[in-house]
Amino acid sequence: MIRTRFRPIAVAIAAAATVLSLSGTAAASGATTASEVSGATSARAATPVPTGKAALTRNPIYKTGQFDFTECKELDRRPDDVESYKIYLDHLLDCLNLSWAEEFRQAGLSFAKPKVRFITSAVKTGCGKYPAPYAAGIYCQADKTMWILIYKQQLADPSEFELFQVIAHEYGHYVQDRVGILRATDKLAPHFGTAKFYSLNRRVELQAECFSGAFIGSIWHSLGRDQFDWDDLLDYKYGDKWHGTRKSIVYWLKRGWNGNGPSVCDTFTAPASKVA
Ligand SMILES: [Zn+2]
Repeated sequence: MIRTRFRPIAVAIAAAATVLSLSGTAAASGATTASEVSGATSARAATPVPTGKAALTRNPIYKTGQFDFTECKELDRRPDDVESYKIYLDHLLDCLNLSWAEEFRQAGLSFAKPKVRFITSAVKTGCGKYPAPYAAGIYCQADKTMWILIYKQQLADPSEFELFQVIAHEYGHYVQDRVGILRATDKLAPHFGTAKFYSLNRRVELQAECFSGAFIGSIWHSLGRDQFDWDDLLDYKYGDKWHGTRKSIVYWLKRGWNGNGPSVCDTFTAPASKVA
């Protein structure tokens, strides 16, 4: 399945891609977990990756504290200089890795850095051709890679803030994958009717928004940005049935921002009204 953050101009693409992955990945996942736990030399994992409903509602990642690393500088970018944008994003990625590695440690779950590709066109991914121009970023479960699209308007404006949130959001999907949340939702999805299915997907997407808000909130004071940048980001949000209403998206972004950690981001036990 592809997990995306769509650009405002876009509405759903991916509903069709949903039910593909199931039994194969589920069977393989047990083996992955076991080897990660037993063979873990770099990152000790005392806690097995949860499965089923427990992965969604009692995930150990919800029991961790606020993000510990609260400093993250934004490096300078130059207009239309893709390389400077990649360096900028790589640095944000370092910050995300530091912050999330500590949360995984607190949760007792093993951590590894995600694979990431920064692209400027619709390249081929492990989930098919990148859905440009509709997606600002995707997380592809098949290749375990975050694909971040740097597009023309962003290249023209080196002070833009959208890319920051895109990478934090896609990182959120990577976290969901590592802590068993995506696997659990993949197993539930085929048993759900259309309405419940969309609701489940919105809980996944809104949680990634919350994770991104929590990260951004935790390092905000170190960025030297104006409140306007954050307000502007919220203003720019559009909803759809796949990602939630604008109101829901803003709610979870702010909730993450104020909570500074993943403990406030359990969208799976939230009332339906909060994930509309
Ligand atoms: Zn997403």
